[in-house]
Amino acid sequence: MDKNFFSDVDSLSRDALKRLQIKKLNEQIEYLSNNSPYYQRVFKENKIFVEDLKSLNDLRRIPFTDKYQVGESQEKFPPFGEFLCVPEEEVVKYFRTSGTTFNPRNFAYTYYDWWHISIEMLARMKYSCGVRAADRAFIAFPYNTFIALWSSHYACERIGCMVIPGGGTSTKERLNLMRNMKVTVLCATPTYAYRLANVAGDEGIDLRDIPLKRLFVGGEPLAAVPGSRARLEQIWHAKVYDYYGCNESTAPIGRECKEQNGLHVAEDILIPEILNEDGEQVDPGERGELVISNIAAKTMPLLRFRTGDIVTYDDEPCPCGQNSIRIKILGRTDDMIVIKGTNVFPSMIEEMVKRCPELGSEFMIVIEVIDGSYELIIQVEPEGMGKFKRDEEEAVKKKLAEMVRENIRIRPAVQVKEPGSLPRFEVKSRRVIDKRNEDAQ
Ligand SMILES: [Zn+2]
Repeated sequence: MDKNFFSDVDSLSRDALKRLQIKKLNEQIEYLSNNSPYYQRVFKENKIFVEDLKSLNDLRRIPFTDKYQVGESQEKFPPFGEFLCVPEEEVVKYFRTSGTTFNPRNFAYTYYDWWHISIEMLARMKYSCGVRAADRAFIAFPYNTFIALWSSHYACERIGCMVIPGGGTSTKERLNLMRNMKVTVLCATPTYAYRLANVAGDEGIDLRDIPLKRLFVGGEPLAAVPGSRARLEQIWHAKVYDYYGCNESTAPIGRECKEQNGLHVAEDILIPEILNEDGEQVDPGERGELVISNIAAKTMPLLRFRTGDIVTYDDEPCPCGQNSIRIKILGRTDDMIVIKGTNVFPSMIEEMVKRCPELGSEFMIVIEVIDGSYELIIQVEPEGMGKFKRDEEEAVKKKLAEMVRENIRIRPAVQVKEPGSLPRFEVKSRRVIDKRNEDAQ
């Protein structure tokens, strides 16, 4: 029989949730005071005592953490830095960041944190989206230190699904395996979900022969944009659900439910703050940086970790029955490009490219000098292997340029490239070439 993964915590009222958070925050502060070399120092320096924390507002007295601090601490005290709260022999899982924007950082999980926090939370999410023991899940990630592979694998197994590992093989073989094993759930990055579909097209594999019902995408924020989701759902004939987290959070931060209207934050595990540039909490619907405090994990929990992700949030109850806040990710501060005084996230451009059915899903953003000043250039391809007639090409270029101008107030130059000529990304996309960085070197 299916285990029920609905948690009573998911339906707590906002007030009850806040009371639970303050209780767990107090316990966490006490735990960190006893076990974390980093927080022992920080609490002492800032004169923070458990008995002073009466409300969630008091959380603000605790200084922020960020990935740079984690990295620096790990350089000084390898491999886990001063954030590790347990003896190393208690660690059962090891992950590492890919290190594209910074030196790789190491992350540890005890058995408890891995199974009872990280996996349990992701299983709760997949279950709330309809995954059941009878499902067959395909995990399309390589075997490596990327957490999404492991958490997807074990969350599906925890529910009781048959889990089919998709590592160590070619994309074509993965598609055949998915078809032969009648896979109903696929876990992948959004980029790779596109890649699979493109290869299926090239190899003459009909995706309708794979009885997929649900596609869970994570590892990059592509599915957060509506154009991407609609397109993926159409290609795969399946529902697409997004989830999101970072290694520092020790658990998925946001998880969609079957309503697909934002990512629920498991507020019994993480306290989210959405802060403006002055560090003040913003109102629902306003943009701010997501800052999270883990009040449940015991291995290397961080308080007030700056995710670098710009989000909006909604605290109205969700029709799915959960009362936790739902966030929408607009982009990463790391990926943000500032051009002509305007903040541009690649995900915004992506959404607009995907609203043009004449165009393929690949694109590149290039910033380079045209007529003496830096301009935003969007490179696209025709959909499929087609070619535009001259007037068609002009029409689609004008349409995309106009859409971008209306949304971000910058008129880009649009260049249509040969079908298949733009870079294809296997796992995560790198879609910005900023010539200003090269020119400055
Ligand atoms: Zn919901």
